[in-house]
Amino acid sequence: MQRIFVALHRVDAYLLVHRLAQAGIKAHVFNEHASSIVGDVPPDVAQPQVWLDDDADRARADAVLVAYEAERNRTGSAICPACSEENPATFELCWMCGRSL
Ligand SMILES: [Zn+2]
Repeated sequence: MQRIFVALHRVDAYLLVHRLAQAGIKAHVFNEHASSIVGDVPPDVAQPQVWLDDDADRARADAVLVAYEAERNRTGSAICPACSEENPATFELCWMCGRSL
């Protein structure tokens, strides 16, 4: 097993695990309840971590991670091509009409 990501929040770790699963990569979250001890131990020990089940998935997992982080860093808004509604850039579907952005 190999650690590929240290998350600030539990939800970030689970979002990444979900993304990896969509790519056919098995991974698990460790330390999800440990953030209360941050300050007593080094942060990268206490924060939620994503570990790959199979080291052979590392290259593909890194690609998923890069895409995931790029998406999380996206800011601003996107205009729906169907209804012209403004959506946050992180949305994949228009909140108004449901069309893919
Ligand atoms: Zn729309």
